[in-house]
Amino acid sequence: VPSLFTFNIKDKIIEGIPGISTEAEVQLRIESNLKGNNKRKSKSYISKGPTLITHWGLSGPGILKLSAWAARELNACDYKFQIRVNWLPDERITDVLDRLNQLRKEEAKRTVYKTKVFDLPSRLWRNLVQSANINSEDKWADVPKSKMELLSKRLCASEFRVNGKSTFKEEFVTAGGIDLKEVNFKTFESKIFPSLYFAGEVLNIDAITGGFNFQNAWTGAYIAAKAITTSVD
Ligand SMILES: Cc1cc2nc3c(=O)[nH]c(=O)nc-3n(C[C@H](O)[C@H](O)[C@H](O)COP(=O)(O)OP(=O)(O)OC[C@H]3O[C@@H](n4cnc5c(N)ncnc54)[C@H](O)[C@@H]3O)c2cc1C
Repeated sequence: VPSLFTFNIKDKIIEGIPGISTEAEVQLRIESNLKGNNKRKSKSYISKGPTLITHWGLSGPGILKLSAWAARELNACDYKFQIRVNWLPDERITDVLDRLNQLRKEEAKRTVYKTKVFDLPSRLWRNLVQSANINSEDKWADVPKSKMELLSKRLCASEFRVNGKSTFKEEFVTAGGIDLKEVNFKTFESKIFPSLYFAGEVLNIDAITGGFNFQNAWTGAYIAAKAITTSVD
């Protein structure tokens, strides 16, 4: 199955702002039916890292890591699942709400839209503010507490429905391949067919993003090549 792919999402919060990248914590929840009974099993993965808003949804290391950890489960659910994004990964939602309520008093006459409150790209801040039903002209003093609560939720727990992944062949790597138990890693030779060597993608190795797949391909190829030339000698 493919691994290291981006998530397709259509949502007002990330609409019209492709190219923006920010540090975020992304939580992925997958529900699956356990075989043979009706019990639903829920599994969750969390990753933190730069998260990139694209024309189609979300990408960047924070997303790619999740796609690798859950590659098989996401394939099984046909790439339809839910994620939760905390755009302020170092803040707690209760502290964020306190800060917003404080601003209602301190910045009463300023527009929410134009106030730089958190370390967030301003266009993302404006989209988040709008998603909390706060208009571009609204001043802090005009915003009721209920909308402040909604805004704190959007900031720390934006829910997104993912519907598909980056298109076929744009994925970076394949999860699956030759069973590692069948390979002698001192030489990368098959334990089943002598004189047959494997390296790289063909093995059941897929790493998170960061060059580890290249490392796997190059290191394995080096060891296999050495073993082959030694065996020829
Ligand atoms: C878009 C993209 C981005 C990536 N980014 C990263 C990254 O940032 N970091 C990272 O670690 N990994 C990344 N990867 C993964 C990495 O490129 C692969 O894991 C690595 O190249 C695998 O090396 P390989 O030699 O096993 O296979 P490949 O590099 O796929 O080489 C296989 C070669 O075999 C050739 N071939 C296929 N069939 C035949 C045939 N019948 N006869 C002769 N030749 C044939 C192909 O043309 C190809 O040249 C990325 C992959 C993609 C697609």
